[in-house]
Amino acid sequence: MSTYKLSNGVEIPVIGYGTWQVEDDIAVASVEEAIKAGYRHIDTAQAYGNEKSVGEGIRRSGIARDELFVTTKLTNASHSYELTMSSFEQSLKDLGLSYVDLFLVHWPCPIQVRDRWQDANAETWRAIEELYDYGKIRAIGVSNFHQRHIDALLQTAKYAPMVDQIRLCPGCTQDEVVDYCRKNNILLEAYSPLGRGQVSGVDEINKIADKYGKSASQIAIRWSLDMGFLPLPKSVTPSRIRDNLNVFDFKLTAEEVDTLKNLTGCAGLAPDPDTMPF
Ligand code: NAP
Repeated sequence: MSTYKLSNGVEIPVIGYGTWQVEDDIAVASVEEAIKAGYRHIDTAQAYGNEKSVGEGIRRSGIARDELFVTTKLTNASHSYELTMSSFEQSLKDLGLSYVDLFLVHWPCPIQVRDRWQDANAETWRAIEELYDYGKIRAIGVSNFHQRHIDALLQTAKYAPMVDQIRLCPGCTQDEVVDYCRKNNILLEAYSPLGRGQVSGVDEINKIADKYGKSASQIAIRWSLDMGFLPLPKSVTPSRIRDNLNVFDFKLTAEEVDTLKNLTGCAGLAPDPDTMPF
């Protein structure tokens, strides 16, 4: 699979396999299936509760560790220097890995530290930078961060985030943070790139899908790539796991990219990270 190059030169496969809500008992088989289908990039998080199974799926695939790109994310309850260090070590143990390729701060403003999120993120980021310097993480980034959260982080950061993982799909384009990340060489990863499955019910997307002999999901993934995003589709269905990679034999026109961009809210919108109930 082709790659994007992050600001520190690390290469990241252009599609990742999402594992949110992939329960422990099916995650082993799903991750193994995904890797066998050709995914080389797996996205999990401490909060998903499936790192052990994701790690087992990786081992069962038989693919060498250095051919895979594995991301996990810091849980909201661990926004401090000490807790970042200890929860990261726990992630390595649960995944059964000696390093991860990408570690993200999952949310900028967890409820536990909402009244002092800037200081909590500064401490957390210092720990992540140390882990990066030790070579336990190959690239570091954030998720659900808007410009104000990144600007606050940069007040004390030694390294700028290399990635921002946010909700992006046709009709959910988060223009302000997208422009900011593009200008600052921060790669945008598109979570919920299928609108949590809702793109399949959007007439305009299905019309374009018919033209190319593709499904609405494949069109949404192609749109992400044509926007320069890195989509992270999730499926536990083997045929869909495979179909979601079959997007490299066509390209949308500039007009189609714009049409999909402007279907505001057709498959859901991004949450406000400052008011999440967790
Ligand atoms: P998504 O990938 O947009 O959609 C997943 C849904 O689409 C599932 O119901 C899946 O069903 C269905 N689906 C998958 N492929 C399909 C196809 N080809 N045709 C029809 N339906 C299809 O949703 P998501 O899980 O919210 O997002 C993807 C990943 O992004 C997550 O797994 C996670 O890794 C990441 N994420 C990150 C955050 C964050 O805060 N950073 C938040 C949300 C998600 P089946 O599984 O039943 O096949």
